[in-house]
Amino acid sequence: MIPLRITAATPAVAPFVARLNAEGRAFELERTSGRTPFDLDLEIVGEGRSVYRSSSAELELRGIDAGEVDGDVVFIDPSRGIAHRLVRARSAHNTFLITERCDQLCVMCSQPPKRGHVDMFPYFEAAALLAPANMVLGISGGEPTLFKDQLLPFLDRVLTHRRDLSFHILTNAQHFEPTDLPSLARLPHDRVTWGVPLYSSDLVIHDSIVGKDGAFQKLTGGLAILAKSGATLELRTVLMSRNAADLPDLARFVTSQVPFSSSWAIMQLENIGFGRLNWNELFFDHSVQFEPVANAIDLARSRGLNVWLYNFPRCTVPEGYRHLAPATISDWKRRYPAACEECSVRDGCSGLFEWHTDDRGFQRFGTL
Ligand code: SF4
Repeated sequence: MIPLRITAATPAVAPFVARLNAEGRAFELERTSGRTPFDLDLEIVGEGRSVYRSSSAELELRGIDAGEVDGDVVFIDPSRGIAHRLVRARSAHNTFLITERCDQLCVMCSQPPKRGHVDMFPYFEAAALLAPANMVLGISGGEPTLFKDQLLPFLDRVLTHRRDLSFHILTNAQHFEPTDLPSLARLPHDRVTWGVPLYSSDLVIHDSIVGKDGAFQKLTGGLAILAKSGATLELRTVLMSRNAADLPDLARFVTSQVPFSSSWAIMQLENIGFGRLNWNELFFDHSVQFEPVANAIDLARSRGLNVWLYNFPRCTVPEGYRHLAPATISDWKRRYPAACEECSVRDGCSGLFEWHTDDRGFQRFGTL
């Protein structure tokens, strides 16, 4: 698995953000911010360690090759001796975790919420401004809009200063108010996509999945505010035994009630967090029962909506629908088991989540 945290040592006491420059400077041409006070240059390499310096800071990283982190933007927490890779320069899968708090308790949540919260906005802002050119940065949680009064100005500032960057923000859309309209409308809609989960057209099923009474109603209100602001919307539905049969009805609902949605992602379950705990009850094996998914896709596409299958290994999907299943699992949590070694479509395939165990897999799976 690709490491997101690196053992680090620094004489500094306070946390700080830095961009790592190895000798090769492979990413120099792609950077848009030029040299900044946040840039540290590689000075010593050897014995499993790399030492970086600038005129005002020093950082030692252990156990990772300097070439692997060249151009990365890291957050250094001196008290814990860790450098968090906030922006990996070679990856298309960089996400800022705004908070671990959430007002919902979804039955399949891959990262169950916690009460504590640490404000990282200043560090995220510094990191975003140092990111390589044309990057799409993810925003996730917990629920990021619990801190919308910081989130919306943060997006505005970064997107104003870096006109090449884009954001994809995951939100349960429970917290938008009409008063947020001016801030939402200000954001460049071609560079901000809101990913919003909707699990069923039946409010009872949706509310039971997210563990919150009244969530469906709040969600439709939030979607209306996003629509009024002109926002770009991606709806997301995790496929589960609780909502699989309802999928065609959901396709009807989405295309008639949320027509401003630019795409709809049907997603497979992630075997971690509550998803692992409730796996036996929730997992719906589309490899042997694709019909409800196919019916939903056909209906939505016939009405002009783009539909995608996220986290669906291509070999588990009938041939006519495989082109809708891109490689969506983030690089750092993706794995390809032995069966993938000779597979002709591996490059464009999600494979499996790192933590997806073979005994809990798809009945139909294997080399194409
Ligand atoms: S065998 Fe592996 S690479 Fe090939 S389609 Fe299945 S999951 Fe993807």
